[in-house]
Amino acid sequence: MKLLCAGPTSIDKRVLSRMGESLTNPDLDIQYEIFHRNMEKKISTLLNTEATSFAMLGEAMLGLEAAVLNLVEKGDRVLVIYNGIFGEGFADFVKYCGGEVVMYKDDFRRGIDVKKLENFLKNDNEFKVATMVHCETPSGITNDIKGICNLLKKYNILTIVDTVSGMGGEEFNFDEYNVDIALGGSQKCISAPTGLTLITISKEAKIAIADRKTPVSSYYMNFENYYKYDTSSGFAFPYTMNENLVYALDEALDILLSKDFVREHSQYAHATRNAFVSAGFSLYPKDSYSNTVTAVICPENHTSSEIFDALKNKGIIISKGAGELTNKIFRIGHMGNNISYDNFIELFEKLDEVFDELGIVTKKSLLEEFKKYLKEF
Ligand SMILES: *Cc1c(COP(=O)(O)O)cnc(C)c1O
Repeated sequence: MKLLCAGPTSIDKRVLSRMGESLTNPDLDIQYEIFHRNMEKKISTLLNTEATSFAMLGEAMLGLEAAVLNLVEKGDRVLVIYNGIFGEGFADFVKYCGGEVVMYKDDFRRGIDVKKLENFLKNDNEFKVATMVHCETPSGITNDIKGICNLLKKYNILTIVDTVSGMGGEEFNFDEYNVDIALGGSQKCISAPTGLTLITISKEAKIAIADRKTPVSSYYMNFENYYKYDTSSGFAFPYTMNENLVYALDEALDILLSKDFVREHSQYAHATRNAFVSAGFSLYPKDSYSNTVTAVICPENHTSSEIFDALKNKGIIISKGAGELTNKIFRIGHMGNNISYDNFIELFEKLDEVFDELGIVTKKSLLEEFKKYLKEF
């Protein structure tokens, strides 16, 4: 089965074979620790920073919840900035740790409007933390993290950014954007197996954690256990690392860092979007198109299930919508290892066939349009 969905993405054979290596005991072997710290630096490199990064064993959701748990104490005011499902979800994590949630909602079909947010903050800016999403995977929208976080910094608000589906596919300059905690997952653009969440943390966020009035009410999720390790105890990690997953991640990071991944994602995003538009489809976002996922509105009288099933029968998996949009849109993940010329030629060839079979009339051949826009980029 070919994966061209919005994550988990396909995995390179090199990554799978590296994962199969079983070499050492991560708790007892100093060489493992050296390797692991070097891998952490590669996560920082992906975000163009020298800030501390680390990986936690667990799904990306764990990172999102843990970031909130570390920065938010009972009674802290938190601004939840959102224009999509993942952004809205941060509110629950804030409530679990007793924070006071203030919701800031923007248009679900556009990028967050920094000017409008600026006007809002003029009247209310007493927040300890703000949360937001870089790329809203369910709608294919990438937000202007640089504009948003630089604005929030003027009010000394700490920022938590979910870049699970942006990291490794979109440009991300952690320092320049003034981000305090950036969260990633192994299974999106990085294209390693699911199971690791990646955290990058600023000096300011570390100070905020050190200065908490109450301790973080978790051992596993306490960030300090990952970067303030005490090797005199004989252990460099808070628990036994899964060396195989970390080898896979390391290999996947090497692959990504060896190419101009921002350009590659931009190119495939450009060609995918324009192929659909030329063929007569409408995209779900009205602006701020993601480099990693394209969301297309289903033609009238058709559902995404029909398109999904027909493609699946031809050996390709794309994504349907999520939540309210489940059957109204379909999504293509030009994400990480999903991207290859052959994969996308096959996808558009089969999309032409599927639309023909379903009686969906297209203005032009998607395959021909895709080729044209890929070349012109
Ligand atoms: C994939 C993703 C996550 C992690 O959620 P899963 O349920 O593991 O897919 C979090 N945030 C965003 C924006 C994502 O795309």
